Amino acid sequence: MKYISTRGIAPELDFDDVLITGLARDGGLYVPKEWPKFSNNEIETMRELSYADLSIQIMKPFISNSISSDDFDALVRDTYEKFRHPAVAPLKQLENNLWLLELFHGPTLAFKDYAMQILGGLFDEALQRRKKRTTIVGATSGDTGSAAIEAFRNREAIDIFILFPKGRVSNIQQRQMTTVDSSNVHAIALEGTFDDCQDMVKSLFNDLEYRDKYNLSAVNSINWARLLPQIIYYFWAALALWAPNRKVSFSVPSGNFGNVFSAYAAKALGLPIENLVVATNTNDILSRFFNSGKMEIKRVRPSLSPSMDIQVSSNFERLLFDLCERDGSLTNEIIENFRTDGYFDIETELIAKRANIFSACSVDDETTLARIKKTHKDTGEIIDPHSAVGLEAAHQIRSSGLVSSEIPIISLACAHPAKFPDAVHGATGFYPDLPVQLDDLLEKKEHTVVLPDDFDSVANYIADNTNV
Ligand SMILES: *Cc1c(COP(=O)(O)O)cnc(C)c1O
Repeated sequence: MKYISTRGIAPELDFDDVLITGLARDGGLYVPKEWPKFSNNEIETMRELSYADLSIQIMKPFISNSISSDDFDALVRDTYEKFRHPAVAPLKQLENNLWLLELFHGPTLAFKDYAMQILGGLFDEALQRRKKRTTIVGATSGDTGSAAIEAFRNREAIDIFILFPKGRVSNIQQRQMTTVDSSNVHAIALEGTFDDCQDMVKSLFNDLEYRDKYNLSAVNSINWARLLPQIIYYFWAALALWAPNRKVSFSVPSGNFGNVFSAYAAKALGLPIENLVVATNTNDILSRFFNSGKMEIKRVRPSLSPSMDIQVSSNFERLLFDLCERDGSLTNEIIENFRTDGYFDIETELIAKRANIFSACSVDDETTLARIKKTHKDTGEIIDPHSAVGLEAAHQIRSSGLVSSEIPIISLACAHPAKFPDAVHGATGFYPDLPVQLDDLLEKKEHTVVLPDDFDSVANYIADNTNV
């Protein structure tokens, strides 16, 4: 399998190089040159597989043969063995034709563990094989950072630097990043928003001299290897509801457009998905886009679902590339204009023609709280605010008639409610229990550095602290 850049200039790469490079050298994102297709017969036989075996089967065509088959299989099995639920990603029925897919049974209690843990293993293996070291630099609005730190702590060949927006992540999220006591882990509180963090990471990568000198790699969701393992749970959930003999829809709480792009990829691989609901909070650039064709930046407003407080969704470029019929220079032109003007538009007919599976809905904080409360009252389930945005969007889209009520909607529960205790308390009047693994989190000592939103300060800090 070869990968190409969405800007059309950077060289085609194998999986291994895409894994280690992250962002393409022309500023684009890597995507598979073509999608392998699974037939309905093949998909049917996947029903009897365990989560780990399903992962192995679906990911194999995407992975280069530089990692041995045995090593890869072992890595995947070891990874999912450590998850807390025997089903890895359990599916719960909430109502007739409405299901909740729980993706918070990994070590940091958010869906990002499902991919990041695999990525950590693959990275380590590839670097050791090449006898190289790397500096991982990433931006997080909360969950990515802790998932990355947990996946890369104590790895021999890696130093990891995670930038998070100071004061804009939850206490639990912050502590998951700052209490890790590993000399290769650096949590940086940047004085800015998540988009500032993300722009900072992009600037570091776009400084090619700096990038080469410190051997920078990315693990935020611009890295294709982050999206690949996310494809699995879409198959897993659909198979449980009898795919490919029955279609399903998904509602995906979205920020950077990584998770829902993985769903789009699952569809490209042959999974019969009817509809993808892109659910956003009041930072609704994505839902405005899908409803109007206009992509327009507005100011980021802090919400109860901070992992979706984003106004520039970096993974959207992967879909844009397909909307542009994979024309890299057109994609480049649109993105460059967007960077200067904060605006572009695409004819809605074109979206309907080339990406007709998407619908979108935004949910404000008040409605989010009401959904947490109602879900608890009706079903006994405690959901976090991100999951509530997805579930509320599923309800709204269904009652608007935009998706069929005969087709099951699977709504993604992206984080454990204990990661967002204040929101849950605000909705229900009680605090959710922290799983036993995190019992001592609130007592541990924090290690963090605060830096201004200034290129030189960040670049120098990383240079001084990496072992590359
Ligand atoms: C990261 C995250 C999201 C957003 O996912 P994207 O892939 O960035 O769209 C939503 N909810 C939670 C809990 C997250 O951690």
